[in-house]
Amino acid sequence: GARSYSFMLRTKNPCGKVSNQLYLAMDDLADQFGIGTLRLTTRQTFQLHGVVKKDLKTVMSTIIKNMGSTLGACGDLNRNVLAPAAPFVREDYLFAQQTADNIAALLTPQSGFYYDMWVDGEKFMTAEPPEVVKARNDNSHGTNFPDSAEPIYGTQFLPRKFKVAVTVPTDNSVDLLTNDIGVVVVSDDNGVPQGFNIYVGGGMGRTHRMETTFPRLAEPLGYVPKEDILYAVKAIVVTQRENGRRDDRRYSRMKYLIDSWGIEKFRSVVEQYYGKKFEPSRELPEWEFKSHLGWHEQGDGRLFCGLHVDNGRVKGTMKKTLREIIEKYNLNVRITPNQNIVLCDIRPSWKRPITVALAQGGLLPPTYVDPLNITAMACPALPLCPLAITEAERGIPDLLRRVRGVFEKVGLQYNESIVVRVTGCPNGCARPYMAELGLVGDGPNSYQIWLGGTPAQTTLARTFMNKGVPKSSSRYYLKLFTDKETYETVDALAHIENKTAHQLAMEVIRNFAASQ
Ligand code: SF4
Repeated sequence: GARSYSFMLRTKNPCGKVSNQLYLAMDDLADQFGIGTLRLTTRQTFQLHGVVKKDLKTVMSTIIKNMGSTLGACGDLNRNVLAPAAPFVREDYLFAQQTADNIAALLTPQSGFYYDMWVDGEKFMTAEPPEVVKARNDNSHGTNFPDSAEPIYGTQFLPRKFKVAVTVPTDNSVDLLTNDIGVVVVSDDNGVPQGFNIYVGGGMGRTHRMETTFPRLAEPLGYVPKEDILYAVKAIVVTQRENGRRDDRRYSRMKYLIDSWGIEKFRSVVEQYYGKKFEPSRELPEWEFKSHLGWHEQGDGRLFCGLHVDNGRVKGTMKKTLREIIEKYNLNVRITPNQNIVLCDIRPSWKRPITVALAQGGLLPPTYVDPLNITAMACPALPLCPLAITEAERGIPDLLRRVRGVFEKVGLQYNESIVVRVTGCPNGCARPYMAELGLVGDGPNSYQIWLGGTPAQTTLARTFMNKGVPKSSSRYYLKLFTDKETYETVDALAHIENKTAHQLAMEVIRNFAASQ
């Protein structure tokens, strides 16, 4: 049918920033040309499903003319650059967001083809900061293709997709260590940004039954003063461009290059393109997962309100309610890396009427949302993603109910939660390898179980169960999915160890990695 010729379209929004105008345009497009749903992605973008070919040009030109872009949202180049969605008016947050914008601009394809194709050559670009243009064109260390329309990408682009995130110390709302490059603002004692710690070589995707493919955490590369960040990023990208594997897409992400070279060799090659040595990484405080949900002060007299969106799917009453509020108060919004939405720039006097409207639309308490839902993520999988092996988004409500059922029976309180993430294939778009409980589709109705990630997203989970073969001491937890004796077993163990069943269950999950 017509559906099989339909397209999925993804926007590009550094830091998840969406202007009022763009939000309203996307909301309309979803109804007019899509399937009536706006989907928020784990890379802070919109996805529209079900756009048919004859409408593609209309949809694309509408997005572009409303100052959105889809340029570089797919393909073997830099994807959307993440940054915390919270619109805090604080020097470090603003600097992180500005840096994310600059890195996105630096790594945007330069050829006019995109605009020729969709808006008949008219360009809708915001002026680039001169430092971005300068860094892109700088060839002092032989990084560029001097005569190419694409001085950084050349004609071949990168071996594979490339992901960058920028954040501030403690705020790991961006899943920093899952990116090819993670950048962290380092400030002085007065809170004034001075430079950046850089991490490299993260990535989630793997292939089933190939142990040589794996998810990987980014590791420290070093520190750069703030004026050098674009040059350092470019040097890393060029290192991957020149050395990343192009013979087999399964091994073409930068994480495999760093894994095979080791970080020392990788650093010295990057330094040749960068023209300087990296300084030692600065010491940073512990990471925390920040959801940015609920009401917060922005710091400029206005407020923002983060709202949970199940699996990033804005539809039905939620879609209608959000549109009304966003339109009426002329609000800008942001998409979070956890597929949630933040309403920005709210005057204190609007808080009450907005709260009432949100509550009426079922978007705020007292409508109860299980805390498991708040931290859970699933990718679209079936029927929307061609790579899906099994359900994710459609399966997760039932799965979370079962997890909650087990928790209840072992005495876990309703406010207790763990990070559950589900994907329909090992590509890992919802970052399941960082979850406390990760499920990765490996057959019809079958999932690998990954355990041992942490709430702050700082450790990699490990495979606990692979194709029906239970492994080791944590066996009873596995029965979460087959039920009954689970509770008795956990209870019995709890008595032996003189702990509550709850403590034990949590420990089992959290310490799984260490027990391997
Ligand atoms: Fe598709 Fe796999 Fe990504 Fe899910 S994880 S969206 S199934 S590619």
